Order: sequence, then C-alpha cells, then structure tokens
Amino acid sequence: MANLKSKNIAPGKTAAKRPAHSAYSPAEVAEIFRRFSVQRPEPKGELEHVNAFTLLVAVVLSAQATDLGVNKATRALFAAADTPQKMLALGEARVGDYIRTIGLWRNKAKNVIALSEALIRDHNGEVPDERDLLTRLPGVGRKTANVVLNMAFGQPTMAVDTHVFRIGNRIGLAPGKTPEAVEDILVRIIPREYMRHAHHWLILHGRYVCKARKPDCPACVIADICKAAEKTTSIPAPLVEIAALDESAVPDATQAP
Ligand code: SF4
Repeated sequence: MANLKSKNIAPGKTAAKRPAHSAYSPAEVAEIFRRFSVQRPEPKGELEHVNAFTLLVAVVLSAQATDLGVNKATRALFAAADTPQKMLALGEARVGDYIRTIGLWRNKAKNVIALSEALIRDHNGEVPDERDLLTRLPGVGRKTANVVLNMAFGQPTMAVDTHVFRIGNRIGLAPGKTPEAVEDILVRIIPREYMRHAHHWLILHGRYVCKARKPDCPACVIADICKAAEKTTSIPAPLVEIAALDESAVPDATQAP
C-alpha cells in the first residue's frame, strides 16, 4: 500500500504501462519493409519440412541448434515419420537415434514423442492453428508457436529470435526489454501486407547484414532510414534482389562457435 501511495496510484489500481514506440514513422516502416521485399520477394524459412507437423517438430528441434544441423537430421527422420502417428510408432529411442547430432537431443526426443501423443489425444493428430493451443503442447513456447502460425497457417505473427530482438532494439524499430515487448510493437507497426514475410526478412537482415558483433552498414539497403547510433554510413546499398543460393553459403554468425 505504501508503495502505491508513494507513486500516486489509487488503491486497487496498477500503474498503466506506457506504450513503447517505434522510432520510425509509418511511412518509414513501410519503406523499410518495401525494400526488404524487393531484396527477397519470397523468403523461405531455412528449416526443411513437408507439412505443419514436421515444421512444428523442426522448430522444436532447432532450439540452440543451427538450421543446417537440424535439416541434416530431419531429412531421414521425416522420411521415416511425417505424422504424429508415425512418430509415436517410431518411439523415443529411435527418434533419438535420428537426432543424436542435435544439441539436447535426449530431451528433444522426449518432447517430440510427448508432442505427438498430445496431438493425437487432443487434436485428432492435426497441428492446431491457435497460439494458446500450440503453447500447451510439450516443448512448444511462444516463439515456436509464432513460427508455426506464420509459416504453416499464414497468420500475421512475429517470432522474435535473437536477430529480431537485436534489430528491434539497435535501430529503434521496436525497442523492448523482452521478446514479447518487441513482438507487440512489431505486430502493431508492420503493414499487414508485409507481415507474412517480415519475420524472415528481419532474421535474414540480422544474420547477414545487421550482424550482432558489427553491423555491415555499407551492405545495408536501409542505411539512409536507419536511426541506429552505431551505423557507419547513411548511403544505402543498391536495392537488388538477392539470389537465395548466395545465402545458403553464409554461416549464421550467432551460431558460430
Ligand atoms: S545501417 Fe547499419 S545499424 Fe542500421 S540497419 Fe543497416 S546494418 Fe543495421
């Protein structure tokens, strides 16, 4: 009570959170994503999958692992089991054999089996298309749910990973102390027509250009719009489409040993 009084907040009320703001105007945000869309008209998630279930499993397996490492393991796993029923029939030990090269594989094998059981028991073997239902599944957090909702169901969700979180804060696009805070701003400010791919554009921009240790500003197509204190140039790189082929050769800076 004393605390409430000292902050001039009426008893029974909580302090209203000040809404966080992007440092960019709606026109600037639209221009940023327009340029990303020119660079990569059809960005693909780099996790291989054949349906919503295998996407869900791949995302669960990708925690603290590289997409490349997950893909290597899941090619054989998904050839053997691409439905919850087949995964369950495979069993935890054999799932573990397939994913042994991925970090935390024992726990992840357990989760994949528990996940398959829950899908069969509660959802007729289908992956649900609601965040609340997804996050009740074993091993599925908000970020995983957002990736699945976006990629498998085309919903305008924003999965905030290390790259998205860094860019949101570094350039002031979506400043926030938590992934949820950054997510809230991004889903509010990104024009609807760009939401489907915005997550991938930000990840790829963070992975290859606005990198963690040192942003490569001369290679950045939004250098003239960017308001980051640490940017090294205001001259944007030429806006041309990037061949998807070039990107597969570049390692993920955040996952490097
Ligand atoms: S100009 Fe530099 S800091 Fe700004 S978004 Fe581009 S790479 Fe990042």
